[in-house]
Amino acid sequence: MSSTPSPLNLVNVTLEYPDGDETIKALDAVNLTVQAGQMISLVGPSGSGKSSLLAAAATLVRPTHGLVIIDGTDATGLRDKDLTALRRENIGIIFQQPNLLASLTAVEQLIIGDHLRGKPLKAARAKATELLDIVGLSSSADKRPHQLSGGQRQRVNIARALMGHPKVLLVDEPTAALDHERSDSIVRLLRRVTDDFMVATVMVTHDTEFVPLTDSVATMRDGKLTVPVLTTV
Ligand code: ADP
Ligand code: MG
Repeated sequence: MSSTPSPLNLVNVTLEYPDGDETIKALDAVNLTVQAGQMISLVGPSGSGKSSLLAAAATLVRPTHGLVIIDGTDATGLRDKDLTALRRENIGIIFQQPNLLASLTAVEQLIIGDHLRGKPLKAARAKATELLDIVGLSSSADKRPHQLSGGQRQRVNIARALMGHPKVLLVDEPTAALDHERSDSIVRLLRRVTDDFMVATVMVTHDTEFVPLTDSVATMRDGKLTVPVLTTV
């Protein structure tokens, strides 16, 4: 029986970093499946492995053991070149600090990736304009980062992550630099784009207040992940 593959599927993922003569197990046999349109909160103490999980899911690091399956393709079996293509076509990454280029306007931040990949500029501009509208920044398209608030910069970051039509959205503490009201609107925006674009979203958060906006909460401790069993009512 064939069915649509999950956008994100981590199978028994272990990630070790060398630490002098020893190794640190940043991830210890982690299993996680996220479906299209599902948003998972990832919580746990500092150093428990949350960012490592995102890095492995983003295919930015290769796990020591286990499989990272993106939309049915095992990323751990790919050569670097194919891995880059898989990542570009499937994964949107949003880190805590928006990392925008100081000299570019909001719309240019979105277009530059497509432009560097040789895609037609007109189509990229149309897509960027639409995404800025979706994140509530249609009137700020021509502003540079220093003319935007922290919340607006994070919105540009989110819009930029959506430019490649990702199936998976990986978000690391998106509200760490924001006050409460702006944090709330950023998490609500992430919820909305998860639903509207049917992406599989994993959001690391230290703020359990936002957990109810997500479908379930996974907890990391010493590299081990606990995922609640989702029951249907
Ligand atoms: P969290 O995001 O939950 O704070 P991390 O994933 O950043 O946790 O870190 C998990 C563990 O892996 C920690 O012990 C950390 O020191 C270690 N670690 C993370 N990245 C590296 C790295 N690049 N090299 C060596 N150790 C690392
Ligand atoms: Mg972290």
